[in-house]
This record gives sequence, structure tokens and C-alpha cells, in this order.
Amino acid sequence: MALIVQKFGGSSVGDAQKIKHVANRVIETQRAGNQVVVVVSAMGDTTDELIDLAQSVAENPYNSPREMDMLLTSGERISMALLALAINAAGASSRSFTGSQAGIMTSAKHGDARISEVTPTRIREALDDGDIAIVAGFQGFNKDSKDVTTLGRGGSDTTAVALAAALNADLCEIYSDVDGVYTCDPRVVSSAKKLDSIDVESMLELAAAGAKILHIRAVEYARRHGVDLRVRSTFSTDPGTIVYSNLKDGAQMEEPVVSGVATDKSQAQITVIGIPDVPGKAAEIFTAVAKAGANIDMIVQNTPTGSDVTDRVSDISFTLPKADLQRVANALEAAKESLGYRELELDDSIGKLSVVGAGMRTHSGVSATLFGALAKAGINIEMISTSEIRISVVTSLAQLDEAARAVHTAFELDSDVEAVVYAGTGR
Ligand code: ADP
Ligand code: ASP
Ligand code: MG
Repeated sequence: MALIVQKFGGSSVGDAQKIKHVANRVIETQRAGNQVVVVVSAMGDTTDELIDLAQSVAENPYNSPREMDMLLTSGERISMALLALAINAAGASSRSFTGSQAGIMTSAKHGDARISEVTPTRIREALDDGDIAIVAGFQGFNKDSKDVTTLGRGGSDTTAVALAAALNADLCEIYSDVDGVYTCDPRVVSSAKKLDSIDVESMLELAAAGAKILHIRAVEYARRHGVDLRVRSTFSTDPGTIVYSNLKDGAQMEEPVVSGVATDKSQAQITVIGIPDVPGKAAEIFTAVAKAGANIDMIVQNTPTGSDVTDRVSDISFTLPKADLQRVANALEAAKESLGYRELELDDSIGKLSVVGAGMRTHSGVSATLFGALAKAGINIEMISTSEIRISVVTSLAQLDEAARAVHTAFELDSDVEAVVYAGTGR
């Protein structure tokens, strides 16, 4: 008997009809002779709506992070109980569990807690009794504070992978509103092609570059624990995409040069202008940024200019999440005198485009194709960064989608059939 963990995202459980549909799919998997653990997200855009609601009663609700987690974990609890009700009404037997009841222990950091331990004793018991176990995604429990925590936006994927690892599951399936992992977000490039398989390293880079089909921490967890993932649609029978962590039978030995293109609209840019060209200034600036608690991504420093060595100045630009822009700008403003720069420039209308592929390691010419495609489309590049298997550029936000389409075509990734998005708002 195989043990399968199935995770259904918000768009898959968006309304009563969809919950009944998911109930039937889960029952089918059990009746095919499997033990089934189901992880669910909050219905539709519930999490966003709860955040909107919090903002309507408090100006800065995140100043009370414990209460935000109390609020947001309620979304997944609604889904888990409704799905259990639907499964039981359809003639099978199921039991729902909160993250804490499922044994998901985390660090104490509200809003971005890390899983420290998974002890799914009650899930095992439910399975041994022949029940389908349903678990609320995105949440855990901290032993010291005795409080519930959340794992960060999109975190239900990570719950599913962590449970699959702890239960030594045979497969972890991530059900969403598209047929699998595509060469680009089908909402941006309708000619995107579905991949039958992708190596976990490339998937990790795509997720890091903004492809929200999988939570980056879920991919990291899968890689570390050797969990194979299948990404597929709740609304079709397409077998989806296998994200493989080991080279197994059938996996490609030679990786494609480019697996996909990702876009990220969540970033902003800060340029610190007129920094004295003396050793230690970059360290001072990024210490101030780190103290403000922001994760920075790309950094560019230009060549110092000035007539003589004593008054030479340079500029440093870096990208960071839009949500952190004002906080970091305030921190840099407060330290303006000691840092000695002339002015700050903030830009929240940038977009990041990344090209990812494990085969890039051994192929030259990827950057020439990328820059050539952007030049032909008349798109200006503001920053560039590279890793072994990724090249990212910053463009204007207004031109990002157009850039993605041009680059997708240049790497010959276009499909003849149009990609289907079955549900969801993409919010
Ligand atoms: P869920 O609610 O099921 O967790 P998400 O909205 O988090 O779903 O993720 C699914 C969405 O990810 C798709 O609707 C699609 O717009 C987006 N997406 C971004 N990049 C990709 C990609 N490379 N392949 C497939 N989908 C992608
Ligand atoms: N409901 C949470 C979110 O919207 C977690 C998830 O969907 O994975 O971020
Ligand atoms: Mg998701």
C-alpha cells in the first residue's frame, strides 16, 4: 500500500463545489489502494482578504504578529473542516488536524516560522484506522511560546513536503490551477510549454526567481530530504510535472540549457547616490540595511567618478522586496550623515526577469541570446546578476511581461497549444 500526500491550493478549494470535487478526487486515490494525507490551503483569496480586514481595523497589523498568525491560520482551518465534512458525507472516513495537532513544530518567528520538527503521531493513527488525514497547511506551533505560527505566504506547499518526508511517503502531489510547471507563468506567456519533468536545482532557481507555482522552501525541503514532487492540476487528469531530486530511471542525464523563464513583480530598487569612495562604505550601508531586516537581492556599484582621489564618489543600487522599501529607506535616511551619501532614489516600478537552466553550466551563449532578445524588443536593462544556472535582469515593470514573451520565444520555448489556467485570480 502506497502513502501519498496530496496538497490542494487555494484555487482548488475556492468554493463549495470545488471542495466536493476535491473530496471525490481524494476518495478515488484512497479507493485505488493508497493511504492518503491531504494538506489544504485557505479557500480562494481568503488569506489576502483576512490581511485586508486586519488592515481595516489596525494601521500596522503586523505590529501584532502573534495576532496576525491567529487570524491567518483560521483560513486553513475552515478548508480542512469543510473538506473533512465533504469526504465523510460522500461515504469515506476522514479526520482533520491543525498544524499543531499534526505535529508540525516550528521556530517562534511569527509570519515566517521555520519547521524544526515533525512528529505526525496523530496522522499515523488516523491512517492506521483507515481514515483519510486532512491537515491545515501553512501553520505550525512553537513549543516555547505555545503559540501558533505561520510559515510565510505560499507555505502550504512546505507543510505537504515536510509531512511527506516525516511519513516517508511514496509521493507528494501538489495540486493547483495549472497542469504543471511550465516554461513560464501561463498567465504571462500563453504559449508557455508544460514540462514533463524538471530537476530540483532548476525548480529551486525558478521558485527563487518568482515562479510561485511552488513555495521555494518546499523545493528546498524536497531537495534536502529527497522527496519527489508531482505538480498537477485539480481540474484535469494530466499527469503534471515531476520535480525529481535524484537521477532515477527516465530522468534526463543531460539537462536542458534553459528550463524556463520567471518574472518577479514584487521587487523594488534603492539607489544610494554620491557615496564617498573610501573602504568600508558598502559594509556600513548594508549593515544599516540588514539591521532594518530586509533581504536584498541584486547589488550593483558603478565606477567611482570625481576629479581627484579625495572627492571621488560612487553610487550603489540594490533590489529588495517592495514591502521592505520604506522601512529600509527610513533606516538609510536616519544614517545619512554618518554614511555620507548625497541622496537616495527609490523605484517601486521595476520587474525582474530570470532565465534558468541546469545545462547553462556547460553552455556559453545564453547571455548573448537573452540580451539580444531584449535589445530587439527595445527593452532597457537596468541591472544584471548571474548564478551558475540563472541569469536575471531588472527592467521597467511596464515592460516585464513583454520582455518575458520576447525571451521565451528567443530560447525556442514556445508551444503550439495555448496553456490553460483553470481557476484562481492569480492574486
Ligand atoms: P495554489 O493556490 O494552488 O498554491 P498558486 O497561485 O500559489 O496556486 O500557484 C499557481 C500559479 O503559479 C499559477 O496559476 C500560475 O499563474 C503561477 N505560475 C508562475 N510561474 C509558473 C510556472 N513556471 N509554471 C506554472 N505556473 C506558474
Ligand atoms: N493561504 C496561504 C497563502 O495564501 C498559504 C498557501 O496558500 O500556501 O499564502
Ligand atoms: Mg501556492
